[in-house]
Amino acid sequence: MSTEAALRLLPIQPHEFDSLLAGFEYEHDISEVSNTTAFDTRVDARDLRSCVVCGKKAVGGLHPGVKRAHIIGRTEDVLWDFLKRRGHVPHFAKSVVHEPRNGINLCVAHHDDFDGYRFFIRWIPPAQLFVFINFSQTQDLERFHGKVVILDPKHKHSPFPASFLIQEMRTRGFHPWCTDRPFPRPLSTSYTVDDPGRGGVADLGGDSETEVGFGGSGGMGRLGGSDGAASSSGEPPSTGINQEYLVLGNPFQDPELLESMRREWQQLPNWKSANIEGLTWEGTAEENARRYIDLVGVSSH
Ligand SMILES: [Zn+2]
Repeated sequence: MSTEAALRLLPIQPHEFDSLLAGFEYEHDISEVSNTTAFDTRVDARDLRSCVVCGKKAVGGLHPGVKRAHIIGRTEDVLWDFLKRRGHVPHFAKSVVHEPRNGINLCVAHHDDFDGYRFFIRWIPPAQLFVFINFSQTQDLERFHGKVVILDPKHKHSPFPASFLIQEMRTRGFHPWCTDRPFPRPLSTSYTVDDPGRGGVADLGGDSETEVGFGGSGGMGRLGGSDGAASSSGEPPSTGINQEYLVLGNPFQDPELLESMRREWQQLPNWKSANIEGLTWEGTAEENARRYIDLVGVSSH
């Protein structure tokens, strides 16, 4: 009897929405839905619903085992705007929530490790690669330390390296007792890639591995020399003839390095692509043409 009475009260009729308290109104913002869908589909299409760290693939049904992780938190719009003003993120990039270049696929375990600030992913300037750094020295993550993460920097939806840089600084803050540790080069990928064409970094496994962008003296100077290794805990172990090591330092202690990285990021395909996607064509034809040229750097003349 009482159950029936309660059930009769449950459905809310359309005319009753008008009487709901502020904040309880029914909202259906179609652009919000489509933006969220675009984030999901673009991150999944780029990462193939596989964890970028270990390669674990999503399974069907509920709890697929692989999630979409925001690199900078979905509520951090103030920080996001700050990064835009500093030229670390494109001015016309989507919001921190909807920008697919602020997201990656991670398995459940590595999502926890990422959100727990146990590791970070670092952009390596001369090689233009993303490398996994087990900064917290967590035992389960050690096999990935110094390995290349399968994220193609040439992909138009490749993550913004600046997002990872914020994650890095927070990870460093959570582990002030840990120091930068050397890792051997040549670099290998964090997992074996099934599809040889995937990620744009699959050629690391071949003979060209040693040639991938580390030959420049400037780059090596930064990574292996006194600048980049300023916070290193000492000489790398000597385990082989001609074995070379890389040591990453805190980029915020090297303003020149940070600035050079920022300039490099602005030349990546994802930068221009984000600006073009976010551009609204509301001006006159002439104004739009000028904005396009400013962004893309080409002229019809
Ligand atoms: Zn994983």
